[in-house]
Amino acid sequence: MHDSLSNFSGLGPDGSADSPAASAGAEATPVYLDGHATTPLAPESLAAMGPWWHAKAGNPNSPHRHGRYADAAVEAARGHVATLIGAMPGEIHFTSGATEANNLAIVGTALAALARGERRRGIVVSQIEHKSVLNAAYALERDGFTVTELPVTNKGVIALERASMAISEDTLLVSVMAANNEIGAVQPVAEITDIAHARGALVHVDAAQLVGKLPFVAGSFDLVSLSSHKMYGPMGIGALCVSGAAPYRPLPIFYGGDQEGGLRPGTLPTPLIAGFGAAAKVAAQRLDGDMRHSAALAVRFEEELRSRQVRFIRHGSNAARLPGSVSIAFEGVDANELIAMVSAEISISEGSACQSGQITPSHVLRAIELPDDLIKGTVRLYFGRYNTTDHAVLAAVSIASAVRRLQGRTGDFLQ
Ligand code: PMP
Repeated sequence: MHDSLSNFSGLGPDGSADSPAASAGAEATPVYLDGHATTPLAPESLAAMGPWWHAKAGNPNSPHRHGRYADAAVEAARGHVATLIGAMPGEIHFTSGATEANNLAIVGTALAALARGERRRGIVVSQIEHKSVLNAAYALERDGFTVTELPVTNKGVIALERASMAISEDTLLVSVMAANNEIGAVQPVAEITDIAHARGALVHVDAAQLVGKLPFVAGSFDLVSLSSHKMYGPMGIGALCVSGAAPYRPLPIFYGGDQEGGLRPGTLPTPLIAGFGAAAKVAAQRLDGDMRHSAALAVRFEEELRSRQVRFIRHGSNAARLPGSVSIAFEGVDANELIAMVSAEISISEGSACQSGQITPSHVLRAIELPDDLIKGTVRLYFGRYNTTDHAVLAAVSIASAVRRLQGRTGDFLQ
């Protein structure tokens, strides 16, 4: 591992190097397998951020040399992000992440439509969008917009014939994700865009999970959201790509200076942008290798599980899935108990979100019509660039042993 990154491991639970736990070496860091939640920073990205925190600190808007250096770093990064998705640098607008980019795309487009006297009021989304898309769309209902949710197949893929039925001459915007963050299902966004454009609707693609993991071209999409921390860049930075060919641009959703063409005011965070740019550059260089590596680890993990006679149901389709993404259910198992049992060895995630003490079943697993007991027994893993074959084997060994204990307890011992 890269030196500067290996220093991160062995930190205390609070992340500080001088915490009692760290100095006593009390807690070994488990293997990280939750890359859908966030990916570990690429060493190249860490290195690219370095100078901009202190040694070369400056506001990219300032006229002096420090300002000009920072501005040059921002523009270089903008170029790398644009290149990764085949866009023009001027189409990239930095935001704090994909949540903000999604809000800007949806609410900003509605504001622009209202300002233009546009009569269309329909927003079409899929059932499995991220909450930042769903909640932004539904927030517009109070302004007279209507939201239609497209269903997905039991493989988690948006049904095209349903998209064709739902998108009409009243549709202002269609917002669909490129790949899902829970089950890794890759969506037919190009086909949906053809349908939407034929009916005069704009298209927004939340590509937060797919960019950097599979080839992606911004192409004919009007708006594309990106998130740096899903592609080995730092947290707190992302972008909205606004196509130069889009019939019109979103309006800003908050007000300030004229940064990012007035679309997204606020001082540009040079270190984060430099880190995002470096991550984009590395992602473009490594895409093929990363894809093969991630896919091979996921296959190995599943083989190891099977070889231990552990029965599981994998969600999503083989053909249209992010390489490295594994969402699986174990019968008779409570995912939260499983995650707790393996937590000293691996960090994995559940398929249900715990909100205010209540377990809310994942809307994505509901949308693929998974029965409640399988929703409860679903865990999500992601094998990324910095994982190894040993990690995949360890995950299988650890999960197999925990699943056996949990199923044995409920009298559903499988061997
Ligand atoms: N969209 C998708 C599909 C995501 O997976 C996420 C992060 N979970 C987001 C949007 C939000 O991204 P960010 O953390 O950059 O706000």
